[in-house]
Amino acid sequence: MSALDIGVMDFAFDNSFHRSMGGFYAPADAAKPSMPELLAINHLLADRLGLDVGGTAKDELARIFSGHVLPEGSNPLALAYAGHQFGHFSPQLGDGRALLLGEIIAPEGARYDVQLKGSGPTAFSRNGDGKAAIGPVLREFLVSEAMAAMGVPTTRALAAVATGDRVQRERAHPGAVLTRIASSHIRVGTFQFFAAHFGADHIVQLADYSIRRHFPDLAQAANPSLALLDRVIGLQCELVARWLAVGFIHGVMNTDNVAISGETIDYGPCAFMDRFAVNTVFSSIDANGRYAYGRQPQILHWNMARFAEALLPAIHRVSPADVDAAKALVDAIPVRFRTIWHAQVRGKLGLGGEGPDDSELIDTLFDELEEHDVDFTSFFRALAMLLRGDGAMLESLLPALDAMAPWIAQWWERIAHKATGPLEHAAAMDAVNPLYIPRNHLVEAALDAAEAGDLAPWLELLEVVRHPYALRQGHERFAAPAPADAGPYTTFCGT
Ligand code: AMP
Ligand code: MG
Repeated sequence: MSALDIGVMDFAFDNSFHRSMGGFYAPADAAKPSMPELLAINHLLADRLGLDVGGTAKDELARIFSGHVLPEGSNPLALAYAGHQFGHFSPQLGDGRALLLGEIIAPEGARYDVQLKGSGPTAFSRNGDGKAAIGPVLREFLVSEAMAAMGVPTTRALAAVATGDRVQRERAHPGAVLTRIASSHIRVGTFQFFAAHFGADHIVQLADYSIRRHFPDLAQAANPSLALLDRVIGLQCELVARWLAVGFIHGVMNTDNVAISGETIDYGPCAFMDRFAVNTVFSSIDANGRYAYGRQPQILHWNMARFAEALLPAIHRVSPADVDAAKALVDAIPVRFRTIWHAQVRGKLGLGGEGPDDSELIDTLFDELEEHDVDFTSFFRALAMLLRGDGAMLESLLPALDAMAPWIAQWWERIAHKATGPLEHAAAMDAVNPLYIPRNHLVEAALDAAEAGDLAPWLELLEVVRHPYALRQGHERFAAPAPADAGPYTTFCGT
């Protein structure tokens, strides 16, 4: 890219990280794609961000969102970070295939990063090519839109552009670039990088920047870095509870993939669980099940312990006694998580406020779902149908009519004491329990078609998962559990 290549779209960049965090990134440049072609653009998101994509020609959008032209005011850079990958510390990761174009301020006032992913090598690429293949780009677009529609905090996809170049993985694939929008790209691994290579001054600087940007209310705290730890732990507990509530498995919960904003980031081998099994793993590289569905709360705990370690020099500097307070915050995570998680499940079951026997009801629920191989997503909708007097959906999910009869009776009893009637109850449950999620067999079929040049199934699925809750006639196949002969599902990291 050169200064002469100026796009017409006005981003009104305001690049605070570039301005105030010199030494925390490396300047970088995008590789010019040979034939950029727009695959998808997120109009609703663009409107929310105040970006005039409607008034910009398609070819121009393709050039901007593939790195072919540099928009005015951009200071392209790659962020430095480290991270624990599958438990092992990698001191030097960084944006190896991503390029931060700059920051924009949405009309409502929030600041967002605009980042290209798959736009070519950077100083942090090591042996990687810096590229992305069309399948993973469209998967991230689809899944992150589904997450946003379900109210799960997440980075967003603004655009997907085919590059016209081939990307070599286990075989050659068409290349693509994703434009990702995030509250920021500061990760636990960002703190780890500066803790490992520099020291307290850098940690304080990064903590101060993070607080200014994300949590300005913490600036006045007695020990801001300790308050930052507390806040990030709270957000991560919320996030992982939301994942579990929709059956989401991130797949690579390495510390470099944990954003301090509390947004889901780095959609790689992620997928949604079909039949309930706590040990579900989809990622081909997660042989030991480190990041299995049911292990995500423990991994969150482990990751936050690494975050606390990285922050310790900054926490200690303000008050050595606060090191104990940091330890106490980390130790309290399991209880803190469980409280948030149970609130999520109570919502899914329509239980309302806390009841004395809820823990038992919740624990036995998951044992029963596992024992009977029940489709996780459909089950909660089937319960709502039962409240409406229609047990057919539940029957279709269970191996035998009375398979979960004792549990259902217990739940029914709990619900019966409520002031609201069953129909209101069913409606409240349907408002939090998605009917349409990106089911693995549908995602795979859509990505295969897209790779072969037919975007229609992907566009259709995208439209469906953007409206997860309301039943739509003719959409039965999108809500149906995976076919019995679907076989085990495997996802790959090779983005
Ligand atoms: P991930 O597993 O996607 O979170 O990536 C882990 C690290 O590998 C990050 O530092 C990425 O930037 C880097 N990386 C992954 N794929 C590539 C690639 N194709 N080229 C260069 N770097 C990559
Ligand atoms: Mg990553």
